[in-house]
Order: sequence, then structure tokens, then C-alpha cells
Amino acid sequence: MLRNWNIMQFSVNKIHLEKCPVCGSVHLQSFLSCTDCYATGETFEVLQCADCGFKMTQDVPVEAEIGRYYESPDYISHTNTKKGVMNTVYHWVRKYQLHKKAKLVERACGKRSGRMLDIGTGTGYFVNTMYQRGWDVEAVEKSAQARAFAFDNFGLNVLDDTKLNDFEDQSFNLITMWHVMEHIEHLDDLWETLKRELMDGGKLVVAVPNCASADAQRYKSFWAAYDVPRHLWHFTPSTMQAMANKHGFTICERHPMPFDGFYVSMLSEKYMGRNFTFIRGMFTGFLAWCSALAHKDKSSSMIYILRKKE
Ligand SMILES: [Zn+2]
Repeated sequence: MLRNWNIMQFSVNKIHLEKCPVCGSVHLQSFLSCTDCYATGETFEVLQCADCGFKMTQDVPVEAEIGRYYESPDYISHTNTKKGVMNTVYHWVRKYQLHKKAKLVERACGKRSGRMLDIGTGTGYFVNTMYQRGWDVEAVEKSAQARAFAFDNFGLNVLDDTKLNDFEDQSFNLITMWHVMEHIEHLDDLWETLKRELMDGGKLVVAVPNCASADAQRYKSFWAAYDVPRHLWHFTPSTMQAMANKHGFTICERHPMPFDGFYVSMLSEKYMGRNFTFIRGMFTGFLAWCSALAHKDKSSSMIYILRKKE
């Protein structure tokens, strides 16, 4: 895989950013210091580009060494436990969201079947939903445990993420990435792969946290979706637009994901060490949800529907 030598220097197994990956500016300023409340308690700096406003985590451990930052008993994206109120809410919301996501991407594509790729598929719930609706699906996922879950529970043959570059040019009508792009080390390489593997007229669906959201503004360095160092990149609608332009994509639709605000707010309250995290989180989540109703670009997470420029 190509390396982004022009924007990064690899030193002592960390990714030290010297240029903005969106606009190439060297004017990177300190924005926040965030603590990894999820796994290690280590502190990381979030930088902001003075020219385009893009935010990024500085000195993230390289991919080969980031494994221990994912090791926490609380990590529920790749498990199916149903302990605790927060997990119960999470699982309930997931079921509702799967149905909504499937309908949304089908409407965006103008198709109810076709060939699709889901990148960072996790345990396979979404791709299984699409398979059951008649889509010809491919999926890649880094975690061997998650791939095994998808196989055991859904019979899906999910590929290792190193296979991402192996698909032919113009293979897919649809490529989806649900809360994955913020984790990807080689961002420019990824976008070029997406462009190559997507058919002309195909759609790319990218869901990422929105660090311009009402909940991000409220919780600042405690906002759980900074999720350092697992999240390298922190998008807003305007920086996603700039990234898309850079790689020859146009954003054709933006959709809020206001439900994410409830979960992120509860987690942020927990990281602040507060009591009554569920009630406080629900309250802030509700305020954030109201804010997203009025201004969808203030939603906790956003779904971007993109197409390749002609
Ligand atoms: Zn920039």
C-alpha cells in the first residue's frame, strides 16, 4: 500500500502529522487535549488546520501497535452483550437504525439491489441486512473476531481488510463506511481506492462523527466521539466537502444521525466522572437531537452520500 509520506512522519511508532491531509497546509494549531478514557488513560492532542479547519489527532500509534487501545471490556461495537442500560439502548437503537440505513442507501442509489461493498463491517449486521434485501454483498473487516462472528451468525464470508485493494476497477454500485473513515491511517490512499472501485454513477456512503455538533460543543475535550487515539480524523460537513473535492467526489446528500447524540452524550458524562450518566446523557442527547432538528449540520454524526465527479 502507498504511504502518505508527504503528510506524515513515522517516528517512534507514532504518526506525527506535519501537514493537513485535506488542504496540505503546514499551519497546524493545538485545538484540544483529550484523554483516552476508554482504554489507557493516555492524553493526545487534537490539532486544527488554521487554513481549512480540519481537525486531527496528533501522534497516534501506528496501526501495527494500536491494538491495545481497542482493548476494553466496554467495547460493544464488536460484541453482542446486553448488560447494562447503555448497552440495551445501544442494541435497540441499532435494530432501528439498520432498517433506516438500508432504506436510506437504497433511496440514495435509486436501486433496491446491486453489488455493494461494506468497509469495516464489524460483526456484519448491516451487510447482512442488505444481503437479505437482495444485494450482492462484499465486506472487509480488520478484526478476526468480528469476521468470525459474522460467519457464525449470518454465514457471511467477510474478508480481511488487507483485501480491500484487491477488487477490480468499477466493481461496485455502492460502497458504505459506517463510522470507519475516522479510524483509517492512510486516508488519501483510501479515497483513491474508493474512487477506483466504485462504478461510474455509483454512490459512496460515509458516516462519521461531527465535531461541529451541538454535543461536541457542549462536552469539548470530554466529547466521547473524539475517541482518541482510535479516531485519527474529526470531520465536519465543511471539511468532508473539502476532502471529497480533493479526491474528485461531490456530496449529493447530507443526513443527520441524531440518535448517536444520546449514546455519545451518555459516554461523555461517564468520562467526566459524573453520576446519573444515563439521565444526564439522555437529557443532553435530547437537547442535541432538538438542535439537529433545527440545523442538521449540528447532528452528533452525519451520513454523507457522495458520487464521483464526471
Ligand atoms: Zn487544512
